[in-house]
Amino acid sequence: MHGVKANDPKLKSWVDVPAESDFPIQNLPFGVFRTESQLPRVGVAIGEKILDLKALHILGYLENLPFRLEDMLADSLNPMMRHGKEAVSDLRNRVSKLLRSDMPDLRDREHHVKQVLVNQSEVQMLLPVKVGDYTDFYSSMDHARNVGMMFRDPDKALLPNWKYLPVGYHGRASSIIVSGTPVHRPMGQTNASDNSQPVFGPTKQLDFELEMAFITFDGKPLGQHISTVEADDYIFGLTLFNDWSARDIQRWEYVPLGPFLAKNFASSMSPWIVTLDALEPFRVMGPVQEPAVMPYLQYEGNKNFDIHLEVSIAPSGGEEKNVSVSNYRYMYWNMAQQLAHHTVNGCNIRCGDVMASGTISGPTEGTFGSMLEITWKGSKPVQMPDGSVRTFINDNDKVIMKGYAEKDGVRIGFGECVSEVLPAL
Ligand code: CA
Repeated sequence: MHGVKANDPKLKSWVDVPAESDFPIQNLPFGVFRTESQLPRVGVAIGEKILDLKALHILGYLENLPFRLEDMLADSLNPMMRHGKEAVSDLRNRVSKLLRSDMPDLRDREHHVKQVLVNQSEVQMLLPVKVGDYTDFYSSMDHARNVGMMFRDPDKALLPNWKYLPVGYHGRASSIIVSGTPVHRPMGQTNASDNSQPVFGPTKQLDFELEMAFITFDGKPLGQHISTVEADDYIFGLTLFNDWSARDIQRWEYVPLGPFLAKNFASSMSPWIVTLDALEPFRVMGPVQEPAVMPYLQYEGNKNFDIHLEVSIAPSGGEEKNVSVSNYRYMYWNMAQQLAHHTVNGCNIRCGDVMASGTISGPTEGTFGSMLEITWKGSKPVQMPDGSVRTFINDNDKVIMKGYAEKDGVRIGFGECVSEVLPAL
């Protein structure tokens, strides 16, 4: 895969791509959009435009690929993704070829260009996948250790299982929403201490979790496993993911079965799925895993990815404040191990499943991926530019996540995952 032609840093597009754009010709992420007058369709981001794949299909530019018009005139990427890894890689390579500055086929047909390019500023982006199942891992060691130190014994911050398997739980798919969709502060039960009575009301500890999520192709039939060697063939791409959490609700409800209403009210996803193909140049070595993992979790090659991540909080009408700069490379367990573990018991994965990383925290202050850690359980409030302070997220705050990989003058960006918190209903 390292030879993916569409990734060549020398490629330029005849479509204008501003400097610092997340979407140069080497990226070509997939999303679903609609305009006021047109039905939802599949598109690919390029600079500040979207290439309309439905229009491209009608004009014959996707010939000799297995895709039907209905795959592109769809309100999710699932029909396209059902064709599998190889077909989608071929599609991305075709799009790359059509957009290259030295390829006249589309470039010189002005009447076609008008039909296939749309301004990103003029469309509504939709949730890119119909999510069948959502799994949330807990794969950043620094995050797990921070939480363990705060809530348990600092000397035994990691639970005994943590270095033996990628801990995860099954989340809720129905409340996964696309960036830009506001989130109401959830109501729920909380209990300040073991000696008091629980109370009901809006959460007082609404938090974000900086995560990345990968989206799967159809997996194998029930009962079969996906090995770490095979895993990449089942991964379509990645998005930014804000796994909203209500810490006070979580603390009261989570025993003994784990997260429930503290987590399932919303998770926000960025609208563009950056393919694993586009991220190939950004592979890096993972951490040394000690003790050695069991054979089914062993892997070869570079399975981590160097993706710069950042989070800021913007109060209503106020200046935004950066609260975290992290990196996806900090993950202890990688995607291949997560998939191998997920399927080792025969659990089947399906097209459009979302597998989130768990909160991504780095080793030092400033790199933490949740307010819980940034303010160390509220003991170190964040000072905002307007003079106010935050221990958690207030009503009418926007939480903004961004991410990109960058090398050889090429930036493969993820756009933004933004959502505003509205008062409780
Ligand atoms: Ca999470």
